[in-house]
Amino acid sequence: MKYYVWTIGCQMNRAESLEMANLLNRSGFEQVKNARQADIAVLNTCVVRQNAENKVTGMLGYMKGIKTLNPALRIVVTGCFVESETAALKKAFPYVDYFFPAGMSGQFEDWLAGQSLTRNSHSSISLTPAGNPVVTYIPVIQGCNNYCSYCIVPYRRGREKSRPPSEILNEAADAIANGAREIILLGQNVNAYGHDLVGDIDLCSLLYQLHNLPGLLRIRFLTNHPKDMSSSLIEAMASLPKVCHHVCLPLQAGDDRILQAMNRNYSFDQYRSLVHAMRNQVPDIAISTDLIVGFPGETHEQFLNSVRAIEEIRFDVIHTAAYSPRSGTKADLEFTDDVAGETKMQRLHHIESLQEAIVSEINSVLIGTDLEILVEGKKGAKWYGRTYSDKLVFFTDCRDLSGAMVRVRITSASPWALQGEVILQQDLSKAL
Ligand code: SF4
Repeated sequence: MKYYVWTIGCQMNRAESLEMANLLNRSGFEQVKNARQADIAVLNTCVVRQNAENKVTGMLGYMKGIKTLNPALRIVVTGCFVESETAALKKAFPYVDYFFPAGMSGQFEDWLAGQSLTRNSHSSISLTPAGNPVVTYIPVIQGCNNYCSYCIVPYRRGREKSRPPSEILNEAADAIANGAREIILLGQNVNAYGHDLVGDIDLCSLLYQLHNLPGLLRIRFLTNHPKDMSSSLIEAMASLPKVCHHVCLPLQAGDDRILQAMNRNYSFDQYRSLVHAMRNQVPDIAISTDLIVGFPGETHEQFLNSVRAIEEIRFDVIHTAAYSPRSGTKADLEFTDDVAGETKMQRLHHIESLQEAIVSEINSVLIGTDLEILVEGKKGAKWYGRTYSDKLVFFTDCRDLSGAMVRVRITSASPWALQGEVILQQDLSKAL
């Protein structure tokens, strides 16, 4: 029996798709790249922006056609497209066999167990992750309590729920035994981890525990809310060698009135102070961010405040999105989506070209330096991996370097990636 998984959206969705793929692998199913060949098709969806939602509805239409040709195909839909009450979805998409909310993989497991599908006795039962084993994503906290006025996530993924540290440590140890060298801890609001657990547990204490795991070389975590960025967490980044010098800290807007309307609970001054505190303790820290342009009521001057914020902070990466109303959110119910589509696109392109210029300068400074790269895999003839500060680096080498830590001299840089040549392959045996 064969399965197909289609995923869009955030890293959390990718991690959950991998978890479902692993479950299907362990149950004797074989993954295929074409939905037409599948017996089960899992669609892991995102509705955080209108264009993502359009892709989901387009994919559902495509799957309807495939199911017409192959009525035995089971279609399963999860992710943020699925509301907690699924009656309306079942009515709208009667050819979908099963809907389950994001993050509820236990429900998928129960559904799978109840299916009378004949498993392929010839396919191997594999515990190897279907994705890249060098880097493993581990969700540590689900949901979000913040209710930013534009965001659908709290309505679809529910309130914050942290996993017990013992469960996370066991999963990390298993991943390392299967070849993982870097672990990325995931949460919509990862730095709120632990506040709902009994005892003195937070992201910081989790980092210290993970840091002790032999064989693990790097730890990252995303996404962080500025209001939950504690000084102890910054100190952990500064003092724990395996914790990478890279933080994802969404700003969303550089204007205080827009930030307030977004219900972000910080001002730009507070955000700036946080960045200063991080850069004081971790001078080489790379900061990535998310930004929304064209939020309801955003004037040209307010947009320019976002531009000035970008010029001042000089982020390493910006994920920019044009605002699109999400049904049922506060911004949808209480504000008018009054910034013209054309203006939103102009603002988006302005930010993109500004950021391209800034990151070109940041990356060009790295030419001639020697950086440590954890090699993740190969694209075409080139190996690729990331620096401690999350820069993507490509280089050629005739050896098999997957999972190795190498020192690379940077020879050229673009806004998106660096190119280099290996000057040293490190002996990992001490770390393992
Ligand atoms: S912090 Fe805000 S933007 Fe992020 S998931 Fe929670 S509600 Fe959405």
